[in-house]
Amino acid sequence: MADNEQTLTITVDRSKCCGYTLCAAEAADVYSIDDEGYAVAPASVPAELEDQARRGAVACPDSAIILSRKNATGEDTDGA
Ligand code: SF4
Repeated sequence: MADNEQTLTITVDRSKCCGYTLCAAEAADVYSIDDEGYAVAPASVPAELEDQARRGAVACPDSAIILSRKNATGEDTDGA
């Protein structure tokens, strides 16, 4: 990864997640539902899944999915 390359990172706020599963329905390659009914997602996604990750986040009625960008040093650069 180049120094200036940024990775889209995903955080699911389980305190907000109500298990509607809309994220997984919209973006099945990124989000899934665990045994307790909460959404789970990889900490970061490859570039080809970024659009899907965004669609899943937008689909969440509780805004439980937070997308952000981190650079190669792990610094949060925002602008997801
Ligand atoms: S759409 Fe939102 S509330 Fe529903 S499972 Fe996904 S993260 Fe949770």
